[in-house]
Amino acid sequence: MTTLDVSETEINEACAKLKRDAVAGGYVLNSDTGFVERLVSGILTNERRYGYPACPCRLASGKKEDDLDICCPCDYRDPDLDEYGACYCALYVTRAVHEGQQALTSIPERRPGRALRRAKLQTQPTATHPLAPLPYPVWRCKVCGYLCARDQPPGICPVCKATKERFERFM
Ligand code: SF4
Repeated sequence: MTTLDVSETEINEACAKLKRDAVAGGYVLNSDTGFVERLVSGILTNERRYGYPACPCRLASGKKEDDLDICCPCDYRDPDLDEYGACYCALYVTRAVHEGQQALTSIPERRPGRALRRAKLQTQPTATHPLAPLPYPVWRCKVCGYLCARDQPPGICPVCKATKERFERFM
């Protein structure tokens, strides 16, 4: 057993939490329990290896600031659910897929290349943005789109449970 190995107990606990959070946020997990467990094992291994829960289906850089968009749940989950009925890894699926009314297809990678991601980061609004004459800044959760107006983004998104660093200044 290496230091990266995760135990069955850890996987079971993480799966139980994932399921609770999914239900609370209105999301649906893949009905193939073994498949979900393997993905969760990959996420836990990545968390141990890199210090953050990088997507188990993508190659992480090892730099958290470069990979925040692919920390599970990633920024691309909801658009992929809308368009394909599942996230890139098929950990999350739509109710239609879950109930067999929609077939799963292969999902193309939606994540932009590194140069584009960097360029986008540099064009994000700042506190001095001309469209921000509001009493509070507005923060947007990049995972689920939740918006809130307050001095700082919340520690945890109340909808999808993404952490504070997944929020961007919206206006
Ligand atoms: S939500 Fe995103 S990061 Fe998580 S398993 Fe699905 S594709 Fe990977």
